[in-house]
Amino acid sequence: MTKYKALLFDKDGTLLEFHNMWLNVARAACEQVKAYSEQHNANSDVTSSELLLAIGVEGDVVDNYGLLASNPVEDTALVWFELLKPKVTLVEFTQITKLAFNEQVEQNPQWIEALPGIGDKLSQLKQQGMLLGVATADTKDSTLYTLQQSGLEGLFDYVGYSDGDIEPKPAPALLNAFCEQCGIKPHEVIMFGDTVSDMEFGRNAGAKNVGVLTGTAQQHELEPMADIVIASVADFNPTEFNELI
Ligand SMILES: [Mg+2]
Repeated sequence: MTKYKALLFDKDGTLLEFHNMWLNVARAACEQVKAYSEQHNANSDVTSSELLLAIGVEGDVVDNYGLLASNPVEDTALVWFELLKPKVTLVEFTQITKLAFNEQVEQNPQWIEALPGIGDKLSQLKQQGMLLGVATADTKDSTLYTLQQSGLEGLFDYVGYSDGDIEPKPAPALLNAFCEQCGIKPHEVIMFGDTVSDMEFGRNAGAKNVGVLTGTAQQHELEPMADIVIASVADFNPTEFNELI
């Protein structure tokens, strides 16, 4: 019997395919926000490449520490606002940016897919009696939509997102909310994620951490903060972890 009762997962790059989807979403949302800004007397010298670079997208590479990989969309809105300087309020600009990202996700279900073997692995862990949760920096609408599209939605006892009403990762608020909802303690939780921010989150909350290599980070980046690094959530074996840690 394992001493861990619950598994909490980051969403993008951990359960769902990250690169294809978020590169496409970020590029399209960037064009949408840029066009909106140009209608509102924005600084027209800023290029799409500069806007994407500011959130950690350079060509086809997404920086593991960048805003797209690790932060809520409000942070993307803030850096784009500072670069574009449109003649609107930050509040309005943030709403437009969030809407652009959500629209791109919802209009392109073909971009959304679970990583290989994830659905089967989660079903198996659930059957073994594990409580399962999601803790993501994504918005509520996009989170619920992408979990539904990927066929994973019915598997979770808790779905935590970042929509401006709870402190985002790496603050421990989402892990604490998971524990409260399921009646468990942080030391009974294993957190899975593909970024350093996810590992900081687990550690800040007092949980164990499993780093996975299906997203943006390399093994050597996750290792210092993770209890163990594995290739994918699909490779996780609770008994083995129990013996290791
Ligand atoms: Mg991630």
